[in-house]
Amino acid sequence: MDEAWQRPRAQVGARIEALTAQGICYSCRNLETGEVFPDQIVAWDDPAFVLVLEEYPRMRGHTVVVWKAHRSDFSELGPEEQAQAMRVCCAAARALRRALGAEKVYLNAMCDGEINHLHFQLFPRYPGDPIGSRRFVLPRQPAEDAPATAAAVRAAFGALWRGA
Ligand SMILES: [Zn+2]
Repeated sequence: MDEAWQRPRAQVGARIEALTAQGICYSCRNLETGEVFPDQIVAWDDPAFVLVLEEYPRMRGHTVVVWKAHRSDFSELGPEEQAQAMRVCCAAARALRRALGAEKVYLNAMCDGEINHLHFQLFPRYPGDPIGSRRFVLPRQPAEDAPATAAAVRAAFGALWRGA
């Protein structure tokens, strides 16, 4: 661990491990208290979901849709939730294209830990970036200009979501 930014990330990892060891869902805990990801930048907060900028993104605009109700993965969503979740992901992808100039947005729903809580990751691809699944595992970096990125995504998502 040689980079300063990796220390707070490791602290987040340790908090998650400690909660998981107690049988506590860290996402539910964070949605209740904000204590797991205290530096998280929220782009949009809805009764059903929250749209956050990844703190250690794989690329600019790496965004996470966290479903508020505890569902261990997308296959547990009820019929109305399924429709709403896809509407959210579509609006978020369009917002990332509109706000940040992404050419394409990849969608990932993994939820593969010990205690899973449904979230969708969106990976923008920009003009000139190589295509393909390696974008899913690009190295993480500290977010640059996260407040400005969040403001741009918030404005674009808000316009799309209210109009949806
Ligand atoms: Zn949960």
